[in-house]
Amino acid sequence: MEEREQQGFQDQLARINTRRRVAWWVFFGIFPLLLALNAITGSQEPLVYAIIIWLVLYSLCGALVTFSRCPRCHKFIHVGLKPQLGNILGRRCFHCQLSLFSF
Ligand SMILES: [Zn+2]
Repeated sequence: MEEREQQGFQDQLARINTRRRVAWWVFFGIFPLLLALNAITGSQEPLVYAIIIWLVLYSLCGALVTFSRCPRCHKFIHVGLKPQLGNILGRRCFHCQLSLFSF
């Protein structure tokens, strides 16, 4: 593997791992945000808006992670042969078994 090609793999895997990390932060970030909003405002209305924004944001993050393409086989890493077969938590490409942490 050429060094330039390997650098491309590293960059793409780093981008995918960043997307996964951001998705986890968004997923778990809602809980302290709701606690803080409830403590500050004492009202439920801001919580509803925060949950709606969180749903949209997490959906976008989930879509970005789900439809990330593998740098080796160029297929969707987390999507299997059928749309319902896939694992967004997987650490390897569903098709070629490339580890997301291989570089
Ligand atoms: Zn692959």
